[in-house]
Amino acid sequence: MITPAIVWFRLDLRLTDNPALTTASVQNKGIVPVFIWAPEEEGDWPPGAASRWWLHQSLTKLDEDLQRHGSRLIFRRGPSLEALRTLIRECSAGSVFWNRRYEPALRERDAHIEQALLSDGLHVETFNSALLFNPEDIKTRSGKPFQVFTPFWRSCLSAAPDFRPEPAPEVRSARLPASLSLDELGLEPAIDWTKGLRSTWLPGETGAQRLLRRFADEALDEYPAQRDFPAVAGTSRLSPHLHFGEISPRHVWEVCSRTRTAGSQAFLRQLGWREFAHHLLYHFPHTTSKPLRAQFSRFPWRKDSKKLHAWHRGRTGYPIVDAGMRELWATGWMHNRVRMIAGSFLVKDLLVSWTEGARWFWDTLVDADLANNTLGWQWVAGCGADASPYFRIFNPTAQARKFDPEERYIGHWMPELETKDYPAQIVHHPTAREQALAALASVTESRKT
Ligand SMILES: Cc1cc2nc3c(=O)[nH]c(=O)nc-3n(C[C@H](O)[C@H](O)[C@H](O)COP(=O)(O)OP(=O)(O)OC[C@H]3O[C@@H](n4cnc5c(N)ncnc54)[C@H](O)[C@@H]3O)c2cc1C
Repeated sequence: MITPAIVWFRLDLRLTDNPALTTASVQNKGIVPVFIWAPEEEGDWPPGAASRWWLHQSLTKLDEDLQRHGSRLIFRRGPSLEALRTLIRECSAGSVFWNRRYEPALRERDAHIEQALLSDGLHVETFNSALLFNPEDIKTRSGKPFQVFTPFWRSCLSAAPDFRPEPAPEVRSARLPASLSLDELGLEPAIDWTKGLRSTWLPGETGAQRLLRRFADEALDEYPAQRDFPAVAGTSRLSPHLHFGEISPRHVWEVCSRTRTAGSQAFLRQLGWREFAHHLLYHFPHTTSKPLRAQFSRFPWRKDSKKLHAWHRGRTGYPIVDAGMRELWATGWMHNRVRMIAGSFLVKDLLVSWTEGARWFWDTLVDADLANNTLGWQWVAGCGADASPYFRIFNPTAQARKFDPEERYIGHWMPELETKDYPAQIVHHPTAREQALAALASVTESRKT
C-alpha cells in the first residue's frame, strides 16, 4: 500500500517473530510504531506496580531497537481509539496492524476499535503472536472447550506443530509524528523500591534471547530433575519475557525442541500449561474473579486482614512460605513450587480467598499474567479446571523438607531465622487442616441440597 501503516504494539514488545510488524513492513511503504498507555481500558486488571516497572524498561529497549532500524516508538495516552484516530490523521495512515490480546476486557475493547476503524474505511489486520495455538482452534470432539489439561495438550500436539519463528523484518520508517516521552506515561513508581528488580532482571528482547540460550544450553536437560527445587536455577525464568511478548512462544519452542530429550518434553509441556491457561481464560472469562467450579462460590472464606498482612509480609512463622513471599517482594518473581506452597497456605491454612492471593500476586509479580495467575490460583484453591483436589493439603514443613532439604533457599531469604525476630506460627497446621476439610465438607454438602 502506498499509505503508511500503523503498528500498534501491546504485549508483543519485540522485533523478531512479530507477525503484525512483519506483515505491515512487507505490505506498506512505511510504518509508524506506536504504544498507547490506557490502563483504564483493562477492566479490573490494570497492570500492577511490578508490571509497570517492567513495561517501562521493556518499552525503552524496544524504542532503542527500533531506533537502530532507523525508526522509533511513538508514545501516546489513551483512550486508544481516539489516540489511533489522531495518529491516523497525522500520518495519513491507511491501515492498522496489531497482535491480539486475550484478556476479556481487552478483547471487547479491541473488537470495538476494529469495527470503528473499519467503518472509518481503514484496513485492519490482527494476528496471534502470544500463543502457539489460537484459543478458538482447539476443541473437544463435541466442539467444546477443554477443561482438562492432558487431552487439551494431546489435541494441540496432534497438529504436529513445526514452528518457524520469523526473523526481524526490514523496518521502513514512515515520517514520524510527535511523541510523548516515555517518562510522561508515568509507569515507574514515585518511590523507588525497584533495586532488587533491577539487579535481577534484564527486560527487553535481547535479555530474553540471552536467557533462552543460556537455559537451553545449561539447564534444559536437567529440567525434570531440578525444576522443583527453589534453591537451584533449574527453570528458565522466561515468564516475564513471555508475558510482555519480548520473545515469542514459537521461538522458545523452536529452540527447546531441537533435542527430543526428556528435559525438552517436560519443558514444552509447561508451555502447554500456558496455552491451557489462555484457552480457559478465553472460553471462561468470568474465572478471573469467580471459581470455574461453581459450587466453590459458596465456600466460607474468612476475612482476616491481620493474617493476610502477615502473609503479604512473609511473617507467617512458616519459613518456606515466608521465604517465598520475601523472594516475591524483593525480585518480583517466586519459584513455581513455592507459589504452590505459599498459595496453598493462604487458601487452606488461613482460609483466605484465592482472589486475595491473586490480587497480591498481580501487584507484585513481574510476570503477572491474567491467564496464568487465574489458573494458578484456582489450581491451588481446588476450584478450577484440572485443579489439585481440595482435600490434598500441602504441609508447608514437609514440603520444605522435601524441596529445600538443606535450607539453602530458606536461609537465603530468611537470614533472621537465626535471630529472635522471627514470629511464631500464626496458625497450627494440623488444626488448620481439619478446619479446611470441614469447610470443604460444607461446600460439597451444599451442592447436594
Ligand atoms: C498461585 C500461582 C500463581 C501464578 N501466577 C502466574 C502469573 O501471574 N504469571 C505466570 O507467568 N505464571 C504464573 N504461575 C505459573 C508459574 O509459577 C510460572 O509461570 C513459573 O514459575 C515461571 O517461571 P519460569 O519462567 O522459570 O518457568 P519454567 O518452568 O521455565 O516454564 C516455562 C514457561 O512455561 C509457562 N509456565 C510454566 N508453568 C506454568 C503454569 N503452572 N501455568 C501456566 N504457565 C506456566 C511460563 O510461561 C513459563 O515461563 C503461577 C502459579 C501459581 C501456583
